[in-house]
Amino acid sequence: MNLETLRPNRAPAMVDLVLGPMLGKPVMAYYYVTYKCNARCVFCNIPDGPMDVLPVSQYTPTDTCVEHFDILKKLGVRLIDFTGGEPLLRKDIAVLLRAAKDRGFRTQMTTNCTLYPRRAQELRGLVDILNFSLCSPGPEPHNTLRRDNSYDWVIKSLDLARRLDEPYQIIFVLTNDNADLLPGMIELCREKQCILKVQPEWEYFGNDGVDIEQLRKANAVAREKNVYVNWAETRLFAKGGNQSAHRSCKASNAVLAISPDGYLLYPCYHKLAQRVKFDWNIVEFFETDRWKKMQEKAGRFNFCDGCSNLCYLHPSFYYKFDSSFALSLLADIRYIKERRRIEHERRDFLETHAVV
Ligand code: SF4
Ligand code: SF4
Repeated sequence: MNLETLRPNRAPAMVDLVLGPMLGKPVMAYYYVTYKCNARCVFCNIPDGPMDVLPVSQYTPTDTCVEHFDILKKLGVRLIDFTGGEPLLRKDIAVLLRAAKDRGFRTQMTTNCTLYPRRAQELRGLVDILNFSLCSPGPEPHNTLRRDNSYDWVIKSLDLARRLDEPYQIIFVLTNDNADLLPGMIELCREKQCILKVQPEWEYFGNDGVDIEQLRKANAVAREKNVYVNWAETRLFAKGGNQSAHRSCKASNAVLAISPDGYLLYPCYHKLAQRVKFDWNIVEFFETDRWKKMQEKAGRFNFCDGCSNLCYLHPSFYYKFDSSFALSLLADIRYIKERRRIEHERRDFLETHAVV
């Protein structure tokens, strides 16, 4: 292998974030390929949660998923986040990712890494943002929080993804228990040559969200090399999250969520008010007044008060020109620059260590 065979830079482009809002289209979709997971993280309700009862036999077959991507394209979506559960439990995940890439989508996937080393070769070149979840620089408290022994798999995955020149980064769920580990996490990310994406834990199924004091620790390292903290997110978090009277969340406007059995989850995965069959009829439905009213209502339900769900808030910041828009833009420009710098650094490493 030589450097010519490596892919060009795959950092996201600002155009992905800006075009959707300009055209009034959703910029991204959370495409749930499964609700199953082989981990039992204390801060997650996916395994054993209300969604887990959906039998796998009712999951959308491969061909229909590919048709869904054609529909998403028609709706203007630019980025598909392949999510779950653990997406690598899905046997056809590489086929789905390739179909998405063939249609010009940017792709994102988050994995707990237990299956990544086994499947890394088939995934190669198919994911533009590859998130590895890690809660601490050493095995503890990661293994306790994840309720498994996945720490070693994460470290193996980082080394393997670097050898394969994959665009990996670490997602660090910031909790009240691990904020003091930030310096160690940054050191690890520098050693493994990747971004540390700090994602504050939000409250949504009885768990405690992260305290302001811990958020301050994240903000304090936000300008350091290898770190990505979105200032608009931490500010909204500190202010108590979304307020239904002046919504920040534009779920179902900026972001769509699709279930493993092929339904649009309205307004969002986490608080479901309605399921709409996701087929070609939805293209016409999106033009109706009924859908426009539903879009207006998203983020304004009673249950939306105090919600700090960053999966929906982050893309929403780009749908209104205000200080959150500006803060998020600054953070994301910094992220893209940092990611490009690190990708160059990694390639130098690969050349120096004769891996390429
Ligand atoms: S690995 Fe992800 S989906 Fe699985 S339990 Fe943990 S946070 Fe939830
Ligand atoms: S504010 Fe929260 S609960 Fe309401 S639509 Fe947005 S993500 Fe869902």
